Amino acid sequence: MANHYDYLIVGAGLFGAVCAYELGKKGKTCLVIDKRSHVGGNLYTELLAVTHVHRYGAHVFHTDNKKIWDYLNKFGEFNNFINAPIARYHDELYNLPFNMNTFTKLWPDVLTPADAQRRIAAEREAAKIDQPQNLQEQAISMVGTTIFEKLIKGYTEKQWGRPCTELSPAIIARLPVRYTFNNNYYHDRYQGVPVAGYTDIIEKMLAQATVRLQCDFFQQRERLTALADKIIYTGPIDQFYNYRFGVLEYRSLRFETEILNQQSFQGNAVVNYTAADVPYTRIIEHKHFYGTQQPQTVITREYPLAWQKGREPYYPINDATNNALYERYRQLADQETTVYFGGRLAQYQYLDMATVIEEALNLTATLLKNKKT
Ligand SMILES: Cc1cc2nc3c(=O)[nH]c(=O)nc-3n(C[C@H](O)[C@H](O)[C@H](O)COP(=O)(O)OP(=O)(O)OC[C@H]3O[C@@H](n4cnc5c(N)ncnc54)[C@H](O)[C@@H]3O)c2cc1C
Repeated sequence: MANHYDYLIVGAGLFGAVCAYELGKKGKTCLVIDKRSHVGGNLYTELLAVTHVHRYGAHVFHTDNKKIWDYLNKFGEFNNFINAPIARYHDELYNLPFNMNTFTKLWPDVLTPADAQRRIAAEREAAKIDQPQNLQEQAISMVGTTIFEKLIKGYTEKQWGRPCTELSPAIIARLPVRYTFNNNYYHDRYQGVPVAGYTDIIEKMLAQATVRLQCDFFQQRERLTALADKIIYTGPIDQFYNYRFGVLEYRSLRFETEILNQQSFQGNAVVNYTAADVPYTRIIEHKHFYGTQQPQTVITREYPLAWQKGREPYYPINDATNNALYERYRQLADQETTVYFGGRLAQYQYLDMATVIEEALNLTATLLKNKKT
């Protein structure tokens, strides 16, 4: 380990890895630390029963931006996996996102887009919702009461740990609803998962950097800070400031992974369990991301969990209170001259992988333009 680095990068997730690669390419030295025992952050994949298992939930790369797609493909080959999840409500199975396949199965008398629109409009009118005030009203006004009750209510309440009447309509404002027979979840032109797993990609990005794992920034903050001229920080922003204004809230998750001695468990990569009495929200069957045929299969159940300090923060709760709190931290961060914040935890925002790459590229381009860096 060298004595001094141009950059200390806190977090070996996607944001930190892209920064390390771009800065390293231009001759900057980077020390990348992560408190976990592996690189990749939430993208981390590990080999289990000959399958690259997504340890922290299903990760499907998708973007419309050819530049970002080409950039990521430099680090590894992607397959043409298309995300077409299934919803299971008790013993009923439906296609997601909501589309004509869903509507015709739910309502046998619905045969055309006009039939489906009429049916949903009738349910919306019966519910007498003018201006949706909460997630429940927003959902009913978009897809009617039947779909809300069977496919949204239980899933969403498990996911967020609150009744739909207490959740913001904004959470599902961009819910895809289609009047075509199209199960492709994302609209994006470029989609897939890396055939050799995400960890392989992150390792290639980090090849030039010095990487230290199981190294928590806050356990040796002064020593680590002294090791570099500048810091790129991708951890929780409130923790960086010692929670001085208060704690930002998250939802957490628990993953339970099992290897099964059978060819296929559910026949699809992602099945959402939408009934309230099933404690998990999703089961991922990893081999279906890759279309492989081995005799065993690996499944992961995803259980939503209340978050508290010490548990992994997954989904920021971007309500008015938390957003206002984040804004106060962001103002502090803006005043820093040698620390740069980026990634989902430092920005307190759910960010897709493509956005993370774009933002890391923007940050490093700015840093490299500045002659002083
Ligand atoms: C369940 C789930 C499913 C998702 N599915 C998709 C998907 O299908 N498609 C998609 O595009 N995006 C998806 N995402 C989003 C994707 O995970 C993020 O875009 C990506 O992980 C963000 O990368 P990051 O580097 O910002 O954060 P992270 O991956 O969280 O990396 C931050 C790293 O910082 C480390 N760290 C934090 N604090 C410290 C500290 N004090 N000291 C040292 N290290 C520290 C953490 O251990 C972590 O490794 C999903 C997210 C979740 C939660």
